[in-house]
Amino acid sequence: MAARGLAHFPDGHGLEPMFLQFIGRGFRSGMRPCNETDVYWFFTWTPSDNDKGVIESGRKLKQFVLANLTALKVPPEALAVIEGSETSDVFAVPLRFRAPLSLITASISKGGVCVAGDALHPMTPDLGQDGCAALEDSVVLARCLGEAILNDDGQGGGARSRGRIEQGLQEYASGFRRWRSVELVATAFVVGFIQQSSNAIVGFVRDRFLSGFLARRLLKIADYDCGTLWSMEPKDAAAEDIVIAGAGLAGLATALGLHRKGVRSLVLESSPSLRASGFAFATWKNAFRALDALGVGDKIRSQHLQAQTLRVMSSATGEIVREADLTQQGKREPHEFCCVRRDLLLKVLEEELPKGTIRYSSKIVSIEEDGNIKILQLADGSVLRAKVLIGCDGINSVVAKWLDLAKPSHSGRSAARGLAHYPNGHGFEPNFLQFIGNGFRYGMVHCNETDIYWFFTWTPSENDKGVDESAAKMKQFVLDKLRGSRNVPEDALAVIDKSEMGDVLAAPLRFRPPLSLIAASISKGNVCVAGDALHPMTPDLGQGGCAALEDGVVLARCLGEALAGEEDAVENERIEAALREYARIRRWRSVELIATAYTVGFIQQSNNVIVSFLRDKFLSGVLAGKLLKMAEHDCGTLSD
Ligand SMILES: Cc1cc2nc3c(=O)[nH]c(=O)nc-3n(C[C@H](O)[C@H](O)[C@H](O)COP(=O)(O)OP(=O)(O)OC[C@H]3O[C@@H](n4cnc5c(N)ncnc54)[C@H](O)[C@@H]3O)c2cc1C
Repeated sequence: MAARGLAHFPDGHGLEPMFLQFIGRGFRSGMRPCNETDVYWFFTWTPSDNDKGVIESGRKLKQFVLANLTALKVPPEALAVIEGSETSDVFAVPLRFRAPLSLITASISKGGVCVAGDALHPMTPDLGQDGCAALEDSVVLARCLGEAILNDDGQGGGARSRGRIEQGLQEYASGFRRWRSVELVATAFVVGFIQQSSNAIVGFVRDRFLSGFLARRLLKIADYDCGTLWSMEPKDAAAEDIVIAGAGLAGLATALGLHRKGVRSLVLESSPSLRASGFAFATWKNAFRALDALGVGDKIRSQHLQAQTLRVMSSATGEIVREADLTQQGKREPHEFCCVRRDLLLKVLEEELPKGTIRYSSKIVSIEEDGNIKILQLADGSVLRAKVLIGCDGINSVVAKWLDLAKPSHSGRSAARGLAHYPNGHGFEPNFLQFIGNGFRYGMVHCNETDIYWFFTWTPSENDKGVDESAAKMKQFVLDKLRGSRNVPEDALAVIDKSEMGDVLAAPLRFRPPLSLIAASISKGNVCVAGDALHPMTPDLGQGGCAALEDGVVLARCLGEALAGEEDAVENERIEAALREYARIRRWRSVELIATAYTVGFIQQSNNVIVSFLRDKFLSGVLAGKLLKMAEHDCGTLSD
């Protein structure tokens, strides 16, 4: 049994800051000051028939403890502590423990369930370790589970996520806490048994030989380190010059641009492989200029079919509201437009990079600073020190958060996308078709001879709930909307029926409030952002990815020049100036793109009678003109 109490001395207890223990004679008692006024004490003993009734009240229990301690001749100040305790603070409990051997093979975790603290390792209090071990449990459990969840790339569905969580719990149970629990429970029992024993031989051996050993055991058990919430400390971190977060279009374009400038970088990608979700993207002249600057433009052109015409039709009337020649002469050279397969472009960019540039399954979860160096904590527990950090980590960028950029806002609209594959050729004209109005915007365009990419944006309502539960439901929803307008031709509908939809069936469309970027820190010291991490926009211009490629070229140019030549004392200043220059070049382009995309989307999708009338009669030319104007932009080459 154990009795415990707390004595409160309002004017101070005056005791030395010492942990006193009195052992033998069938009991074990201890006391230690908590602070200047409170002293905690405990008393454990093996109950006998003579003690019956002592636990009935705090007063009786105090008397019992005092009688035993007085018989052992403990100093009067120790007795005063027991006497000074409120009787309501004194209570006794039987001491129980989990048989330590039973824990060796026990299921500390099973599937997604596990135990911690006394639920796992109830022990006698003789080491004073039960609460301490519960705290250790929670740190280890949070680390294992946190890493399992953070490592989850969201791909592969629920089964894979569950598998990771179960693995995390197993790691907690078997990797860390099983043997610690066994050791604690067993040691506490043995220490308690020896310390409390009134047996003459045990008492003799204990007092002559074992007391030092037992005290050392207490300290040894307390020397345990459960680790931090991360599995590695910053001092163990590997050092990298330039770290790029994210292997999307922005990250790979930046890495390739730097590589072309002779600068090595490391790209950390949270997914286990390249993520090509979204299938394809409209690639305008500005993006081809960037791809040419990176030296891969022709590779991409050779695998895609150029679209000749942009035809915008009203889904309300079926009329062509605007037709634009996508090969027309621009300010300096002819326009060009392809719908490029994302997987293909990402692969081409990756292939051009030196082996080992991309480190997969490497999600940055936090950023800290050590002077100019950025310390990057990854979800797998590893730590990297970076001289330069470039956030190309998409719309939910941790780097943008670190830079304090405004959180992306919801546009209130959503988008679905798909890709239809026709092994024997699709037979469509090489045109980019768009149907606008009636509360949605539908577009379809070929990538090559066999693949047609389509997108559908709309403003979700209560009635649409659940449409994104399966690809079949999503397709049916899109088809119903398009059929409802009665003006979308059957062959355009057949594309949806035939398509693959991937893991993201529908995504809410978000954008960074453009005005927030006017004064935002696009770069701060040696950190900056690019791509969606900088300028998430609604997809109504088809420019988000194109602008990410522009970013990559400009950033590689600025940074590459700053890093050319030998490292010297002012290198960091050059890096910071280069990132400021990049931010200066990209700020207004970003503001303009986001604002224009939002406005175009709002007007094109609207089913408001006045907006629709103005759009179809007067604005369609302006809107199509805007698309081409945005595509005129020239981000320059890597050495401008
Ligand atoms: C419906 C829709 C249609 C679109 N259509 C077009 C179009 O036609 N034309 C066009 O140009 N653009 C289009 N876009 C926009 C385009 O998809 C994006 O702008 C573009 O993909 C942005 O590229 P990115 O590299 O900046 O970001 P992402 O493509 O999002 O890549 C970010 C990468 O970073 C990784 N990552 C994220 N967090 C971390 C982390 N913490 N640590 C490490 N890695 C991390 C991700 O796994 C990902 O691989 C469209 C967007 C939508 C939603």
